[in-house]
Amino acid sequence: MAAGGGAILLHSCCGPCTVYPLEVLRAAGFLPQGFFYNPNIHPFREYDARREAYLALAEREGLPLLEVEPDYGLAEFLAAIRAGSEGGSESQSRGESGSWGEGWRQGEGGRQGEGGSQSEGGRQGEGGSRGQGQSRGEGWAGMLTPVSAERCALCYRLRLTRAADVCRRAGLKLFTTTLLVSPYQNHELIRQIGQEAGAAAQVEFIYQDFRPGFRQGQRGARAMGLYMQSYCGCIFSEYERYGGKKQAGS
Ligand code: SF4
Repeated sequence: MAAGGGAILLHSCCGPCTVYPLEVLRAAGFLPQGFFYNPNIHPFREYDARREAYLALAEREGLPLLEVEPDYGLAEFLAAIRAGSEGGSESQSRGESGSWGEGWRQGEGGRQGEGGSQSEGGRQGEGGSRGQGQSRGEGWAGMLTPVSAERCALCYRLRLTRAADVCRRAGLKLFTTTLLVSPYQNHELIRQIGQEAGAAAQVEFIYQDFRPGFRQGQRGARAMGLYMQSYCGCIFSEYERYGGKKQAGS
């Protein structure tokens, strides 16, 4: 990462994913300030566990927190998904298909290194991995499929827009997100949405590919005893992780 300097808002999706980006940003001369906003995490007890792990990490690492959203934000998340299903399309022109969730089923099986992999035939063959055209124009039905690039785009936009707003309100100029450490997230989409959110709030989104340090960060989090989640966050990704596994083994 290019040498930086000054304060930067670091939006965190969870504690474990914060470990490596925090190290990189500090090494580059930035002064990260933490922000946790993730109404996509379901159910509430899972949200609470991740939030507590994040707060524990922040305390341990001396990470100043800009703001901790007092409210869960579940209704806000669902409203955003519904609005997207009714009127908008986040990624109509981007040609994406599939989603984050595929990463949990294939290959490494998630952050805890669980098996969890599933043959290509699994649910994808049953319509789980939908192309762009399939998830559009189906209203709620389209958005409620277990795999939806549309849904993830709305999810990114909700979180990054809030992060950009908080960045501006705090008088900072730069922001980034720990989502960029995950090999299972859509980096190009995050970059685009982050830049759009930044432009709207008149702050700058810093794209940095933190993925090379994903495993290192996960090992560090385990060594600290942080809670390690096993699915992305929303109830759809939870189903994808465990429902898909059950189907694959049945
Ligand atoms: S799979 Fe992850 S990124 Fe996509 S909508 Fe669910 S929580 Fe958000």
